[in-house]
Amino acid sequence: MTEVGTGSRLVELVAAADVVDLSHPLAVGDPVFPGQPGFDLTPVGDIDDPDLPLCFGLISFMEHVGTHMDAPAHVIKGGRYLDEIPFAALAGPAVKVDLREQRGDAIDFDVSLADLERFEARHGRIEEGAIVFLHTGWDARYRQPSDYVVTAEDGTWHWPGLSGAAADLFVDRRVRGVGIDTIGMDGGHVALTLAAHRAVLGSGAFIVENVANLDALPATGALALALPIKTSFGSGGPTRVVGLR
Ligand SMILES: [Zn+2]
Repeated sequence: MTEVGTGSRLVELVAAADVVDLSHPLAVGDPVFPGQPGFDLTPVGDIDDPDLPLCFGLISFMEHVGTHMDAPAHVIKGGRYLDEIPFAALAGPAVKVDLREQRGDAIDFDVSLADLERFEARHGRIEEGAIVFLHTGWDARYRQPSDYVVTAEDGTWHWPGLSGAAADLFVDRRVRGVGIDTIGMDGGHVALTLAAHRAVLGSGAFIVENVANLDALPATGALALALPIKTSFGSGGPTRVVGLR
C-alpha cells in the first residue's frame, strides 16, 4: 500500500496542481428548482456558551441544491444511488465545452449536437471516461436567483440546457459524467421532457448541476473530481467538484 505522507505521489500531485474549485458554497438564499425548498442553516451551538463552547449548526436542504450530483436513480428505476457510485467513477479527464459565444444572450439555449461536433473538430474526440462540463456562462446570474431560475409570467421556466441529441453523443463517448452551469441539465423550456437526464443517467453516468468557475478550467488537460455526499438511497446531493491541472 502506498503511504500517504509528505512526498507521496498524491500529496505531490495536489500540492503541485493548479486547483480550480468548481463548486458554489452552499448558502441561505441559493437558487433552487421551481417549487423546491431552499437551503437553510440555523446556528445551534454558540462558541461563547460556557457550558458547551462549540460552534455548530443545523442544516436542511433538498438533495438537489447548490452544486450537486444527480445519481442515475434520480430518473432511472433501478439506477444507482449516490452511495453505490464507486470512487473510480467520480474522477476522470476534465473536458470543458465553452458555449458562451454560441449562446450569446439566448435564454432558451439548448446545446446541440452541432455544438459538440464543432468542439471535437477543434479539440479532438471526447475520450472515454471523461467528465464533460458545459460552460454556457449562465452561472454569472447565480446570485440573482430569479434571473438564474427564470419563471415567466405565464408560468413557463427558462434557463439553458443540453438537448437530447447532444446528450446521446456523450453516451456514445462513454463519459463518466456531464456537468452544466445551470439549475438543470434539461433547459427550462423543455425541463419536464427529461430527455438529457434520461440519456445521461440511463447510461450509468452522473450529472452535476450548478457548476461554478468554469472560466478557470481549460478545454482539456485537467483532471476532474466530483465527490458527492455519500447518502444511502440518495438520488443526488451537494458535491465538491474540482479541476486539477
Ligand atoms: Zn438534474
